[in-house]
Amino acid sequence: MIEYMNNKIIEVFIRSMEKIMKQTKPFDKCPICSGELVEKEVEKLLRGGVHTAIIKVKADVCLHCGERLYSQETVKLFEEIRRKLERKEVANFQPIGQSFHVTA
Ligand SMILES: [Zn+2]
Repeated sequence: MIEYMNNKIIEVFIRSMEKIMKQTKPFDKCPICSGELVEKEVEKLLRGGVHTAIIKVKADVCLHCGERLYSQETVKLFEEIRRKLERKEVANFQPIGQSFHVTA
């Protein structure tokens, strides 16, 4: 009976460890095509209202299909920047040029 209890505790412990591991690294293979992922610095285009911002961030990029996977912190950062763009809180952003809409 005691042995059984111990096994249960170990099982619960391993499961919670697996959960923690999954939180820090959500995928070790591409969720779209199971391709290999490599960490790369990528440029992400963010839009909010009429404004656009470009940010360089680290992402896990699939070598096969090019899918980009961002960490939770990075996704939060994107949301924050989008909100700032919508509210035109762009004083701390570095302007890089004008954007144009071209009618074909
Ligand atoms: Zn892929």
